[in-house]
Amino acid sequence: MARQYGFDTLQVHAGARPDPATGARQTPIYQTTAYVFRDADHAAALFNLQEVGFIYSRLTNPTVSVLAERIATLEGGAGAVCCSSGHAAQIMALFPLMAPGCNIVASTRLYGGTVTQFSQTIRRFGWSARFVDFDDLEALEAAVDENTRAIFCESISNPGGYVTDIPAVAKVADKVGLPLIVDNTSATPYLCRPIEMGATLVVHSTTKYLTGNGTVTGGAVVDSGRFDWSASGKFPSLSDPEPAYHGLKFHETFGPLAFTFHSIAVGLRDLGMTMNPQAAHYTLMGIETLSLRMERHVANARKIAEWLENDPRVDFVTYAGLPSSPYYDRVQRLYPRGAGALFTFAVKGGYEACVKLVDSLELFSHVANLGDTRSLIIHSASTTHRQLTPEQQVAAGAAPNVVRVSIGIEDPDDLIADLDQALAKATS
Ligand SMILES: *Cc1c(COP(=O)(O)O)cnc(C)c1O
Repeated sequence: MARQYGFDTLQVHAGARPDPATGARQTPIYQTTAYVFRDADHAAALFNLQEVGFIYSRLTNPTVSVLAERIATLEGGAGAVCCSSGHAAQIMALFPLMAPGCNIVASTRLYGGTVTQFSQTIRRFGWSARFVDFDDLEALEAAVDENTRAIFCESISNPGGYVTDIPAVAKVADKVGLPLIVDNTSATPYLCRPIEMGATLVVHSTTKYLTGNGTVTGGAVVDSGRFDWSASGKFPSLSDPEPAYHGLKFHETFGPLAFTFHSIAVGLRDLGMTMNPQAAHYTLMGIETLSLRMERHVANARKIAEWLENDPRVDFVTYAGLPSSPYYDRVQRLYPRGAGALFTFAVKGGYEACVKLVDSLELFSHVANLGDTRSLIIHSASTTHRQLTPEQQVAAGAAPNVVRVSIGIEDPDDLIADLDQALAKATS
């Protein structure tokens, strides 16, 4: 039997092989729009999905395909599709499942942009979202009705220092016969593998830790390959003849790869939210060092969170890796490699002090991003969570007196020194 490679090996090798044309060891950037058919029969077989190959780069591209296979492997999924951004990936995850009048049940603790996408923008498609506290499993189950098509949460949620009990949520999803979609951006498959805990689909903003260096936006949807799309009759795009693809029955034809093939053949074909090969290249460069970076991110975050918690200028720190966190035990049980590197802390002096702190930092960058090698800070209430109501801000862990940090891989003592001098200015 072939050896099962470990995570550190797979993050370097999965999906890639020396280039068949040149022997190039690193995955080349296939900067091409289209691919020559061998003959008319070959072209017909490709368009009929009877043979897997490359047609046009809105659908698939060899560089992007290596990345998709690598992410699918690291997540333990059957297949994956890469997209132009994390937000594109979320629409791509919902697209095969939804129809006008359908809804999703989503956690209140989500990335701010996702709350806006789900509460406002998807309504234009006739979809809607109901937000509930996923620690209240009865409320979660009660929010599901006959038009619900998915349950959506984040593994580690940004920015509230919250971690989801994915096995418990997956049990509810199982009971009501719906797919569970987990946004695993903040945890990455190094810290959390949602599919092993019962998730159906995993979505990523590859913009963040998977690329890791703040160069490109991208997203991915990974399918576990384990959901029975034909059992309930609720997912006709996958179980019934798909009118958008000459009546092909995706589930019957592709089995565990039904969702992935539908996402390429119909989703990318018609929505066009495709990742380009340059972006895939940068993300492949980053993903090779994912475990090494995540170890350092987590170690630095723990050290800095502890330092802040003991500082009298700080009211509280919400980091699930601290024993003071209500989610500490959950982290020990479900996320043994650590609670990630994002957290918030409250500065004495409220909104004004937060703004002054952000403006006084020298090593931390004030940006609307996370998961960079560099340490980043943002005052969510005045930026990313500005569009939310005050109640939504508090629910999302983005109250006016808190700032969010994304701890990088620098020397942690340099980061602490920077926070120390900026806190002095902010609270003087
Ligand atoms: C950034 C982010 C997104 C959106 O991804 P983009 O690549 O910016 O579109 C979604 N979810 C989480 C948790 C994120 O951090």
